[in-house]
Amino acid sequence: MSRGALYRDEAVVLRTYKLGEADRIVVLLTRARGKVRAVAKGVRKTKSKFGSRLEPTSHIAVQLYEGRELDIVTQAETIDQFRGVRDDLDRIARASAMLETADQLAQEGEVNPRLYTMLVGALRTLDGSSSPLVLPAFFWKVLALEGYRPEVDVCVQCGDDGPLVAFDMESGGTLCRTCRRGTAVSPEAVVLLQQILGGRLNEALAAPMSQATHEVDHLATRTVEHHLERRLRSVSVLDQH
Ligand SMILES: [Zn+2]
Repeated sequence: MSRGALYRDEAVVLRTYKLGEADRIVVLLTRARGKVRAVAKGVRKTKSKFGSRLEPTSHIAVQLYEGRELDIVTQAETIDQFRGVRDDLDRIARASAMLETADQLAQEGEVNPRLYTMLVGALRTLDGSSSPLVLPAFFWKVLALEGYRPEVDVCVQCGDDGPLVAFDMESGGTLCRTCRRGTAVSPEAVVLLQQILGGRLNEALAAPMSQATHEVDHLATRTVEHHLERRLRSVSVLDQH
């Protein structure tokens, strides 16, 4: 790739950290180039023209200059404000969990437009919905993107269609009474899982907070953590070679 070229992309700001007196490093998930770390110069000065557009969760159209080590942000225009997220501490926490997960999954130099599209879609949904299932649904969809889509329509062990009473991530999904192992799940939680993974997300998002939404949230969080840990381990093994 030639150095010193300007390029444009769309991005979500995953995180930022300080650099020197006035600059900031921004970690972006871009549509066309995957994860990019870039320098935003002077953004910590009060007169900065785009500092406020470069906060975590910002969805921006961005122009960058290819630097020798890090690219440099030269322009940033807001695409989505996500005011509904920024004004609500609970939604900020959920958005942060989405950003952190995307950050851990995305590798620099690895293009992943579907992860980008999923993250933007999930932030937009979160912006307009107070459903307790927005974050867990994002987790399940990201897991499916990573190649881990659990079976939730039948018993993963014997193929029986129910009743399904347990979920076990090592086995790969839901289990019937005979094969049960892992975590016990209620029939209502199984229905929510079937809706989320079966392309009926809107039905799941319409469900009010309940014991079942709590179960689905808990399972999603544990499964994504388990997956990320295993992935981190395999990446660190690869790095040793
Ligand atoms: Zn079974």
